[in-house]
Amino acid sequence: MGKPTGFLEFEREASKYRSIDERKKDYQEVEQKYSKEQTHEQAARCMDCGIPFCHNGCPLGNIIPEFNDAVYEENWKQAYEILASTNNFPEFTGRICPAPCESSCVLGINKPPVAIEYIEKSIIERAYEEGWVVASPPSVRTGKNIAVVGSGPAGMAASAQLNKAGHTVTLFERADQIGGLVRYGIPDFKLNKDIIDRRIAVMEEEGVIFKTNTNVGVDITSEQLERDFDAVVLTGGSTVPRDLNIPGRELKGVHFAMEFLSQQNKRVADTKGIKVDFSVDHQGAKYQNGDLSAKGKNVVVIGGGDTGSDCVGTSNRHGAKAIYQIEIMPMPPKERAESTPWPMWPMQLRTSTSHKEGCDRDWQINTKEFVGDENGNLKALKLVNIEWVKDNGRMTMKEIPGTEKEVPCELALLAAGFLHPQQEGLLNDLGVEYDQRGNINAPKYQTSNEKIFAAGDMRRGQSLVVWAISEGREAARAVDQYLMGESFLEAKAVSMISPSYLGV
Ligand SMILES: Cc1cc2nc3c(=O)[nH]c(=O)nc-3n(C[C@H](O)[C@H](O)[C@H](O)COP(=O)(O)OP(=O)(O)OC[C@H]3O[C@@H](n4cnc5c(N)ncnc54)[C@H](O)[C@@H]3O)c2cc1C
Ligand code: SF4
Repeated sequence: MGKPTGFLEFEREASKYRSIDERKKDYQEVEQKYSKEQTHEQAARCMDCGIPFCHNGCPLGNIIPEFNDAVYEENWKQAYEILASTNNFPEFTGRICPAPCESSCVLGINKPPVAIEYIEKSIIERAYEEGWVVASPPSVRTGKNIAVVGSGPAGMAASAQLNKAGHTVTLFERADQIGGLVRYGIPDFKLNKDIIDRRIAVMEEEGVIFKTNTNVGVDITSEQLERDFDAVVLTGGSTVPRDLNIPGRELKGVHFAMEFLSQQNKRVADTKGIKVDFSVDHQGAKYQNGDLSAKGKNVVVIGGGDTGSDCVGTSNRHGAKAIYQIEIMPMPPKERAESTPWPMWPMQLRTSTSHKEGCDRDWQINTKEFVGDENGNLKALKLVNIEWVKDNGRMTMKEIPGTEKEVPCELALLAAGFLHPQQEGLLNDLGVEYDQRGNINAPKYQTSNEKIFAAGDMRRGQSLVVWAISEGREAARAVDQYLMGESFLEAKAVSMISPSYLGV
């Protein structure tokens, strides 16, 4: 373990942020660069508690006490190797993972938990700086061809793992850039897109073939896919947004959050000289709604999650007049809810860096109508306060009489989540089965068609980057087993017992 008394000596100190005044003026990452000294001290706080719940809290099974110990011992290369053995893209998770590992850290029972995400980011950034992240192409090719459809973190992880096993992998993407929602959903101020490009360069050198602007199901038919490839992994994400079909939905100024966010990410790419196509949306479809901007507008963000928070941060950078974020569910408790005790992922209020940059937030608010002017432009939102009451054992929404109000609004952004993947086209043509929520039914990653596998949001529904990477890795292993009869790709570690506790 690190320093036996580290957790008594040092306070938790995680990522530091640029000042709000400074960061609101640009789209650079809000987090500052890591410091070696700080990471060393933070790693010393890990108690190597014997039963590392953090390791189980991480969907990837990251071997956290071991990499903490390696950092404390100044053996950064070993720390990188431990981290890379379970996580293909720590540079993504080290920046934007909500860190369920930290919620299950044993130190977190009565003290602030170990700053695991910060340590993870420090390890991978140091590894890039030192030149340890290099292409490692397989020494033998199996002769098997695999198509991966969709280049988000699930598709990228599946491709990296299948390529490592010696298969020839083609990763298809219908948008003009690789990365899925990490590229066109998550803003640059949370994750700079050079971080994705840096990784793609390594994967290309390892032999993964990337094909953008290719809408599988249209440009390549499902028959071609099945004929030309030995296996297919579907990683197309959960792409159908939840709409709000209330009066005024057709007004100019009501948009899905993803239209707004992806356009901004394209603008940032454009300023760096990257060739992006503004005539298509983040999914490669013809884009009709012109240039979206929050400048000088009253913005209402409908939906209280990550996507909504990203809309707040982006609107502030555009120079919005006022930003109001509303959520239909009750406000979560400020501290961990009793219903989610340690080591569970806590239900509690989360305040992002974007929220801190300025916005009003409100809960238990329902939107009744988008109100327009005589030219069909949005000018206000009709809102009402609601309460949740039990009716026949089910929680039901009830309006509070007399609370109806109109708030000025020229830009309304719908950030109420995603329903399921797009079924028409490729998925229906392939004849895959769906689960009750409309996601692909593939309990062990293999679909009802034995050659076709699925992973990420397309299989588990709207989720997190860390889960997408985990699913991509697991699906790759299932494909490898299907094609070769066995697989030497790393299996996800599920043990609750630390190898160091067992003395191995
Ligand atoms: C605005 C926003 C912010 C978020 N912030 C966070 C965060 O801070 N932290 C976090 O952990 N998670 C966050 N998430 C969630 C996270 O981004 C997703 O869970 C994750 O990206 C899912 O990965 P995926 O690979 O399954 O799918 P996606 O990332 O959705 O990628 C799917 C890709 O498949 C492509 N595709 C689909 N169909 C086809 C086809 N027929 N042919 C070719 N290509 C196709 C799509 O164009 C897309 O590029 C956020 C999501 C959003 C929308
Ligand atoms: S990937 Fe997320 S959950 Fe796993 S160790 Fe990193 S921050 Fe924690």
